[in-house]
Amino acid sequence: MSKRISVVISQSPSKNPAKRKLEEDIVLGLMLEPGIDVTVVPNLYDIKTDSTGMLALKGVGGNMIVAAWLYERAAHWILDRNGIHGHVGQVLLTSESDEDEDEDEASAGEDEKSRVIDTREIPNRKIYALDLRSSNKAQSFIDEIKRIQGENAVQVVGLGDIVGGLSFSSSQPASLSSETVIANGETGDSVLNRIEETGGRRWYPVIDYSRCTNCMECIDFCLFGVYGVDRIDTILVEQPDNCRKGCPACSRVCPENAIMFPQHKTPAIAGSSESAASMKIDLSQLFGAPAEGKTASEIASIERDEQLIMVGRDAVGQGAGIAKRQQDRESAPSDDLDDLVDELNDLDI
Ligand code: SF4
Ligand code: SF4
Repeated sequence: MSKRISVVISQSPSKNPAKRKLEEDIVLGLMLEPGIDVTVVPNLYDIKTDSTGMLALKGVGGNMIVAAWLYERAAHWILDRNGIHGHVGQVLLTSESDEDEDEDEASAGEDEKSRVIDTREIPNRKIYALDLRSSNKAQSFIDEIKRIQGENAVQVVGLGDIVGGLSFSSSQPASLSSETVIANGETGDSVLNRIEETGGRRWYPVIDYSRCTNCMECIDFCLFGVYGVDRIDTILVEQPDNCRKGCPACSRVCPENAIMFPQHKTPAIAGSSESAASMKIDLSQLFGAPAEGKTASEIASIERDEQLIMVGRDAVGQGAGIAKRQQDRESAPSDDLDDLVDELNDLDI
């Protein structure tokens, strides 16, 4: 029995030096620990299902820890949409408060709606998602990874074996390359695999199937052919790259808040489980909100019309794909307000 565990470091798309340093410090620290297989990949959200990076991650057979510049929920469901499934592993190093999780669990217990996740078989493994914005200290992440490794005493297949068995054939796009580095330090057996890919930034919706009820409102609303259904009529993001960059419109009309745009500035749209009401300081008392007075569906219609006009089509307003019950939904906190919150967070005060 081994306590090996696979850790995936998803790099920031921004190449910000402070972020790169944190990523590299975590990798270096993990190389000094026994039994850890580290894979460094470009930003998980940007890499495609058939890319070298995703193929390597699909080959990981046991529990997996993913550290990304993404909310935990977003990282989990990005992996899921790429065929990497598992139960949510509990992470103690989190940017979101226990209080909010307790509230979520309490309300989930009262909710009797059927969710897509209820119809699925999930493999007996855990995926732990760490948000790299939770701390600026590499040691905090290393400690949490060691804690998770300690609670998982099951044997997993080493990523080194998997990568060795992967076929990096000439059918891959020419832009992909990979490099495997085996670290034989004093502790002996840690494996580092770096996968580099060039492909650019992407923008598409990610569905949280633990919330989604398969109501199909998103497929009705989107006029760009992004959504589709699988062979048992479950909603899916079929043509992600048809989505219009920067537009989060359908996330505002989903009645379950199941649609995320992980790179959006607004935490509630990017996958935070914290609600606006849980913010410690009500900044809306201090700053004006341009979307004030508009419902979520009105904002979504405006955003969709902007995109339709950009591609030379006619605006449709609220006349298409918005169920009556959606028209009165309150809007999420304004994006400008959340930009401001992000800026305050960046100041580290
Ligand atoms: S609108 Fe939301 S809940 Fe309904 S099918 Fe789409 S993602 Fe699922
Ligand atoms: S953001 Fe707009 S284009 Fe993208 S999936 Fe949603 S409705 Fe369709």
